[in-house]
Amino acid sequence: MDKKIVSLLRFVLILSTILVMTYSRKGLHFGEPGYIIGLIYLISNIIFIRLPAKLIAKPKVSFAIFLFDILVISSAVYFTGGVETDFYLIYFLAIFIASVGQSTGGSIPIAIVASVIYAWFVYRSNPDISLLDSRFLIRIPFLFIISLTSSYWAESTRKELRKKEELEKFNVELKKQVEKIAAEEIELRLYNEKIINSVASGIIAVNQKGIVTTINPEAERVLGYKKENISGYNIRSIEGIDQLWDKIDQAMSTSKPIIRDEVEILNAEKDRIPIGFNVTLLTGLNGEVTGCVVIFKDLSEVRRLEAQLKHAERLTYLGKMASWVAHEIRNPLTSIDGFAQLLINTKDSKKMNDYIAEIRKGTTRINNIISDILAFARARKIEFLRVDLKELIGSIVRDLKIKVVVSCQDQALVRGEEESLRRLFVNLINNSVEAMDENGMLKINFYRKNSWIVTEIIDNGKGISEKDLKNLFTPFFTTKPRGTGLGLAIVQKIVDDHNGKIEIKSELGKGTTCLVYLNEYQEKTRSV
Ligand code: ADP
Ligand code: MG
Repeated sequence: MDKKIVSLLRFVLILSTILVMTYSRKGLHFGEPGYIIGLIYLISNIIFIRLPAKLIAKPKVSFAIFLFDILVISSAVYFTGGVETDFYLIYFLAIFIASVGQSTGGSIPIAIVASVIYAWFVYRSNPDISLLDSRFLIRIPFLFIISLTSSYWAESTRKELRKKEELEKFNVELKKQVEKIAAEEIELRLYNEKIINSVASGIIAVNQKGIVTTINPEAERVLGYKKENISGYNIRSIEGIDQLWDKIDQAMSTSKPIIRDEVEILNAEKDRIPIGFNVTLLTGLNGEVTGCVVIFKDLSEVRRLEAQLKHAERLTYLGKMASWVAHEIRNPLTSIDGFAQLLINTKDSKKMNDYIAEIRKGTTRINNIISDILAFARARKIEFLRVDLKELIGSIVRDLKIKVVVSCQDQALVRGEEESLRRLFVNLINNSVEAMDENGMLKINFYRKNSWIVTEIIDNGKGISEKDLKNLFTPFFTTKPRGTGLGLAIVQKIVDDHNGKIEIKSELGKGTTCLVYLNEYQEKTRSV
């Protein structure tokens, strides 16, 4: 029940009652009962306004209030003798208000009470009135019709209102929920952003078209570009990262992530930066690839430290080398000196030739030692070009006295420096040749594995013991009386300079297999 509306209607009711009393047969005069009733009624409504809404909402209290209305109106009728006038209209109004103020269950009893009192008034003033008189037959049923229709109308309005209120409440709740979820999402996004921004790895996310959707500060730093110059652009438009883009393309088109790979990129300043990276695929609801995330590390510092370490290692070997060189060179020098003295005192031309041949052996040996040392100690920047391994190795094995079988299904083009690679394979092939007798057979295979070109050098020589296998690459390690022990150390260095790999497998008495992994030459990388 809306207290405001009911109190307003009650004021209308009170005013109507006073008005009807004024125009009644007896009229309204100061101090008379009708006057007092009007005053009481007015005061009662002022009290009503003061009553707490909760109390009025109680069915019993509201019923009492409306019953009070009927009784006050009836007494006003009684004291002013107005039954013959328009008082019955006041009853309609009272019942209407009672219906608005409470449920049907409450308004019908009020209507009954009102009808009974009204009927009694009518009967009192006309004791011989017929039951079929319009005052009974029309007015009383009308009271009930008013009561029913108005309470029905009030009830449905109330229901409507309640529904509206509920809906409003629901809307408010919904709005709150939406705001909460939105706030949570923002928080989550900020949280994710914070994580992405604080990791020490570069992170770039691209969609399936290659448009960059996310880039974190470390990626900006490594690439040397600002976020606003990359985010939203196609990753292909970023200069110098073609190799990385190729890898991303490969991962997305084959739907296979890439774990731990390395490429070299050019940053905005055109500096070369080696990066180690993973490519993780992003998938949609149906498992289709929708993009990928590249997480990478700038390896410049690691590479610098590695180079420093290698340099330091070489320096330690330098000390060893000095004494070794002194010793190794003194031997051939002594023999050269001896043969030279013999040469002075001899006239025999055959002997002379023998001595000269010995002297030349000595100088060759010294020459070999010096070039090995130079190759090992040299630390210069290598320029990578296209090298055809098939051609290179073909020219090395051409003059060998043993049987050689070269097999290759495809081209064997690698990125490298020809002179260094020649030395690498000469050293390996020499070792194989030295390990075999005249029945030996050397097999050389080339094949492609991922982005590697693998060269396999297989001999059926005497093989290497397990203990020696561990020391093969240690400088000066040799099992040969005239060996320098630098051959494989140089091989290792060249392979490292080429960012390649080498594996040696061997079994005593059966033979040795060397696998050399070098980067495949790709047309696009030529300018790099
Ligand atoms: P060097 O050839 O001067 O001895 P290397 O570094 O080339 O020095 O080789 C070191 C050692 O490794 C050799 O002395 C030899 O014992 C062993 N070795 C290398 N390659 C082979 C091979 N193909 N078969 C057997 N032994 C080998
Ligand atoms: Mg050797």
